[in-house]
Amino acid sequence: MGQGKASKDGDRKVGRRALLIGGTAAAAGTALLARDELARLWWRTPGVEKPRKEGEVDYAGARWVAASEANWRRADRPDDYGIDMVVVHVTQGSFDSAVKAFQDPGHRAAAHYIVGQDGHVAQMIRELDVAYHAGNRDYNERSVGIEHEGFVDRPQDFTDEMYEASARLTARICARYDIPVDREHIVGHVEVPGTDHTDPGRHWEWDKYLRLIRRARTGPA
Ligand SMILES: [Zn+2]
Repeated sequence: MGQGKASKDGDRKVGRRALLIGGTAAAAGTALLARDELARLWWRTPGVEKPRKEGEVDYAGARWVAASEANWRRADRPDDYGIDMVVVHVTQGSFDSAVKAFQDPGHRAAAHYIVGQDGHVAQMIRELDVAYHAGNRDYNERSVGIEHEGFVDRPQDFTDEMYEASARLTARICARYDIPVDREHIVGHVEVPGTDHTDPGRHWEWDKYLRLIRRARTGPA
């Protein structure tokens, strides 16, 4: 719904912006705009999709594994929807079972990232796109969802390796979109309005997690 309309609007915007850039360059009397500068202007134009490369990840520490397209919606964040939240989830199953579920078009849900108990990270949906992870349209549109391998009632599943890997990932997300590192902006699935999910559960150590994120954020990049 609205997909065709959006791209039509987008096309019109490209036209206007192309004219504008052309005009600016002409006014300067010369094509002084460097190629990368032009590319950046184009990139920042609302309604124009950012260039995408197959298999590209937003976080250097992640391995790309594509989710089924049924489990997310193509978008152009943060230009069409601002990103100001990270939602923390727990998989209630193994890393591999979560990957499988997100690849299943019938699952109708998936998060951007999965962090394993050994600290490895898979990205399954681009941050540009809206992942169906929070069960709430507004929260989906404004957040990045991170799954953690384990069960909410098994505190031993939440390993130091997992906390640290997830904190490094969240620190980068917060830096990228200028998201404050606090409990207003880094929330559990359980805190999303309307949800009946309980993850990450009472064993998730929020103080420790936020401390690790702050440390990763101020540490060397
Ligand atoms: Zn969840």
